Amino acid sequence: MSRIMEKIYALFRMNILIFALLTVTIIALFTYENGLDDIYLLNLSKYPYVLAVTDSADGGASAIDMIRTDSSIVIDYELKEGYAYPYAGVKILLGDGKTKGLDISHYDSIFVWIKPRGEGTVRLYMRGYDATFYRPDDESSLKFNEIEFFPLEETYPAVFVPQEFRVASWWVAHNEINVHKARVDLSNVPLIEIQTGTNAPLGYGTLEIKGLCFKGKKIRKDDLYVALVGLWFITFFVILVIRMFDYSRERAANKKKREELEKNLKALEIEKSEYEKSSKEDALTGCLNRAGFSSVLTREQENLSKTGSPVSFIMLDIDHFKNINDTYGHSVGDEVLVNLTKLIQGKIRNTDALVRWGGEEFVILCSDTPIQNAQFLAEKLRVAIEKHKIISQQQITCSFGIAEMVPDEDPKKLFERADKALYASKENGRNRVTSATFRRTSR
Ligand code: GH3
Ligand code: MG
Ligand code: MG
Repeated sequence: MSRIMEKIYALFRMNILIFALLTVTIIALFTYENGLDDIYLLNLSKYPYVLAVTDSADGGASAIDMIRTDSSIVIDYELKEGYAYPYAGVKILLGDGKTKGLDISHYDSIFVWIKPRGEGTVRLYMRGYDATFYRPDDESSLKFNEIEFFPLEETYPAVFVPQEFRVASWWVAHNEINVHKARVDLSNVPLIEIQTGTNAPLGYGTLEIKGLCFKGKKIRKDDLYVALVGLWFITFFVILVIRMFDYSRERAANKKKREELEKNLKALEIEKSEYEKSSKEDALTGCLNRAGFSSVLTREQENLSKTGSPVSFIMLDIDHFKNINDTYGHSVGDEVLVNLTKLIQGKIRNTDALVRWGGEEFVILCSDTPIQNAQFLAEKLRVAIEKHKIISQQQITCSFGIAEMVPDEDPKKLFERADKALYASKENGRNRVTSATFRRTSR
C-alpha cells in the first residue's frame, strides 16, 4: 500500500506543475460557474431618469400619464389616431443619455419586468451610440436595436439574450446605412425605450414596468478559455525548458561519472599490469622468479619444437654463500645477490632470461643458443664474477651447470641434467663450468 502511495507521490512530484495547472483550471471553471456574477439592476420605481413619451413627438395625438409606485412605474395611455403608428411608452436614460451609455453586450441575459394591462405587443429598444452615424442633438441617429414581444403572465419576467435583438429595418432604410454598419451593437447604450408594439389597438391601456436586470459574468467565457489555454501553453513551455535543463544537467553528470569510471579503470589496469609484473618478479633482485620463468620456458619449448632453434639452460650457484651471511651478515648476503644480478644482466642478451631459482641459485635460459655457446657464455660470466668486486669484503665465485633443451622433453629432466652438472662443478672444487653433455670442465 505504502509503495503505491510512494509511486503516486513520485508521480505527483515529477508533474507538480501539471497538477497545479489542473487545480487552477478546475478552481477557475468552478468559480466561473458558481460566482463572478455581474448583475446590473434597473429598478425603475427608484430610477430618476425615466420619461413618459408618446407619438405626439411625431405629430400624433396619443396621451399618457406616468405614476411611480413603490415597486414600479405605471403608465396609463390612450392611443389615438393621428400619427401613422400611434404609440406610448417610456424612455430610460443611461449614462449621459447621448453618447456615453451602458455596455450591455457582455451580459448573457436581459430580464424585463413588464405587466400588460391591455392588448398587443411591447417594443423594447436598446438605442446604440455609434460615432460614425451619430448626429448631435438628433436622438433618431441612435441605432434602434429592437425586440418586440408579447408580455405574457406565464413568461413573466421576459428573458432575452443580446443575440435576439435586431436593428429596425425602417431605421436602416431611413438613414441609408451600410448593411455592415447595421448590425446589432449593444456596447454603448445611452437610451432604452419601452413602448406599445406595432399593432397596439387604439384606445386606453396600461403598462406596469418594474424594471430591467442585466445578468452576466465579470469575465467573458471566451476570455477565461483563452487565459486557461494560454496558461496551459506557458506551463508546458516551462516544463519543456525545465526538462531540457534537467536533461543537459543529467548528461553532464553522466559524462563526469563515465570519465571517472574510465579513469578508475585505467588506474586498475595499470595496477593489474604492475601486479602481474611483480608477481613474476623477484622482489630483491628484480629478475624473474619461477612463476615468471614458466611462461618463458613454455615459449622457448614451443619455439624449439616448431623451428628447431636450440635453447640452453645455465644454472649457477654462489660458492660458500652461507659463509658470507655468517661472516658479514644477511644484508651483505643480499647485496651480493643484487650486485651479482646486475653483473649478469649486463652480460647477457635481451632475449636471454635471468631467473632467481631460489636462495643463491640462478638460471639463465638462452634462446637460439646451442650448448657450446652457452658454455662459452657461462665461462665468460664465471671469469667476470671472479674478477669483479661484487662486494668489497671478499671475492665471490659461482659454480655453473649447463644443459641443452631436447624437443618435447619433460622440463624436469632438463633441470635435473643442469643440476647434476652444477653439482659436478661443486664437487670438482667450485668456481667452474660443467656441461651436462660435454663433460669437459674448465677453470
Ligand atoms: P655451496 O658452495 O655448496 O653452495 O655452499 P653454500 O653455503 O653457498 O650453500 P648453502 O645451501 O649451504 O647455503 C645457502 C645459503 O644461502 C643459506 C641461506 O641462508 C642463504 N640464503 C638463501 N637465500 C638468501 C637471501 O635471500 N639472502 C641472503 N642473504 N641469504 C640467503
Ligand atoms: Mg645453493
Ligand atoms: Mg651456494
